Amino acid sequence: MFVVGRYVAAMFFRSRVFVDSLVEPFFPTTCVRCGGEGGSPCASCREDFTPAHPVGDLPGLDAVVGLVAYDDVSRPFVADLKYRGKWATARAFAPALAFLLEDCVGNEGPLPVLTWAPTTPQRARQRGFDQAEVIAREVGRHSGRPVRNLLNRCPGEHQTGRSRRERASGISFLPRGSTGGLVVVFDDVVTTGATLRAAARALRSGGASAVVGVALAATPRPSNA
Ligand SMILES: [Zn+2]
Repeated sequence: MFVVGRYVAAMFFRSRVFVDSLVEPFFPTTCVRCGGEGGSPCASCREDFTPAHPVGDLPGLDAVVGLVAYDDVSRPFVADLKYRGKWATARAFAPALAFLLEDCVGNEGPLPVLTWAPTTPQRARQRGFDQAEVIAREVGRHSGRPVRNLLNRCPGEHQTGRSRRERASGISFLPRGSTGGLVVVFDDVVTTGATLRAAARALRSGGASAVVGVALAATPRPSNA
């Protein structure tokens, strides 16, 4: 009896772990910011967000938009995505990001291709995911737009062929293959804009005729650093 009881308890524990691991990423009930029930972000935290769009002009980009201001309200959600790879967080924001994207690029003309500004390979390996890719994939899934991996991030020490500004920022990308038309590049946060500028430069050298940057969170006015 004791053995059976322990067996059942173990089964129960295993199935609970399984169910939690399956359900929790898709239907989080606890808000990462306030601990309240009803999703992350919960309804009351959603009301606290400050809209961040439009972000401002960045060289090489036709438009840059952010969904929310990068502040004390949005920071816990960005961190949840960035350090814990919460697809649910990206999924929660995907409808709003898709709406922002429609607003920015419109419904006419050729379909834009969605891509992302990849994090460093070391960081992606350590964390097991790339938060900018998670955002792009979720928005693509929600909007039915194609998502392609169009950029390789250059290792920090590789300086050849980079502009002075890129060497100063330490961020540069190389295009993977070529694509014409409009490319929308996603990132989690835009602060200085150095990442999006470097991404836009590589995308244009790969054939993109227009580049739009979309970030989940943005500082209201990126400096020119
Ligand atoms: Zn909340």
